[in-house]
Amino acid sequence: MNAVVLKAGRDKAVRNRHHWIFSGAIRDLPEFEDGAILPVRDARGELLGHGYFNRKSSITGRMVSFGDEPPEAAVRRGLDRALALRAGFFDPALTTARRLVNAEGDGLPGLIADLYGDVLVLQIATLGMEKLKPLVVEHLVRALKPRAVLERSDLPARREEGLEDAEGVLAGQPVERVRILENGVSFWVGLARGQKTGFYLDQRESRALVRRVAAGRRLLNAFAYTGSFSVCALLGGAVRADSVDTSEAALALAQENFELNGLPSDAGAFFAQDVFEFLREPALDHDFIILDPPAFAKKRTDVVAACRGYKDINRLALQRVRTPGLVLTFSCSHFVDEVLFQQVVFQAAREAGRRVRILQKHRQAFDHPVNIYHPETAYLKGFLLYVD
Ligand code: SAH
Repeated sequence: MNAVVLKAGRDKAVRNRHHWIFSGAIRDLPEFEDGAILPVRDARGELLGHGYFNRKSSITGRMVSFGDEPPEAAVRRGLDRALALRAGFFDPALTTARRLVNAEGDGLPGLIADLYGDVLVLQIATLGMEKLKPLVVEHLVRALKPRAVLERSDLPARREEGLEDAEGVLAGQPVERVRILENGVSFWVGLARGQKTGFYLDQRESRALVRRVAAGRRLLNAFAYTGSFSVCALLGGAVRADSVDTSEAALALAQENFELNGLPSDAGAFFAQDVFEFLREPALDHDFIILDPPAFAKKRTDVVAACRGYKDINRLALQRVRTPGLVLTFSCSHFVDEVLFQQVVFQAAREAGRRVRILQKHRQAFDHPVNIYHPETAYLKGFLLYVD
């Protein structure tokens, strides 16, 4: 079969099990249909593995197998390994939702699979994985026997791959929303319209932390989405939890999440407002502020503007929080790494003129593993700050 041949000296990343091949590393590209799986060889002809290729994408190739393992077998084995990695970590009586496949983090480029109770939700980012979708669905249905398999592939990255958004039912019946448990706390997950695949599973461990530190505090949950941090703070003994988000639909579900957990509706207010404006409101009296914004840097060239945005909201939060107070601040832009994010928070602290200490650092929950050979899979970082 015709193979992709890498330039001499440009095979190191693939040999080190990094999944991506950029066009600059390729010497010969054979005739192929975009999305096809091709063998990858070094300049001397040694087989390095198999990857899927798409000329339209800035990442021309993504490896699905290394060495001489056949690619479809590697995908099946990757799925089994991803399931095995999560097996036994979750008590099903307490936690019923988890990420099953974290793309390159699990050696499966372009594939996200989240399980909400007995409903599986897939998100596919690339044409190559789109072509592998039937195999993936068949394999996961056999292993998990879910009530339904839904697709929520509405990523901007798909455009670059020449793909439209795709949403719908891949198996079973349509499901509007599903109730999940996380560490014994109940949440509604909107599957038809929500963000991501419906819920920010990557914040599970931060939610547990919020529950632990919120007692007696007045929380401002900025970028609240469906209010998961507010619910956890109140269950942890916060006296109030106010939620701010521009999405009215998300806040409506947040209110339902209060009810679901037996929290009184006056335990917090819901503001459909821009956080940048809200943090300038004169009457804030919160001594705990959470900042969990969407990724401000979606590509490398956005980093400078993104850092300005992160600095602004962090400066405002550090200025406005009642002392002694807590600020839990996150960035989920993978282009803004932890070192850079800490510098941004440092600048914000200086400009706010506050005493600020880092109590803890956070990353994405452990069912979102970072592949040691592919560090781009790390994206979420957060600091719990003490301000006095
Ligand atoms: N903390 C949430 C997830 C936040 S996701 C959780 O744990 O579930 C980011 C949220 O920010 C989204 O709900 C989005 O609607 C909201 N958002 C984006 N830009 C905003 C802005 N400028 N002001 C307020 N909310 C915003």
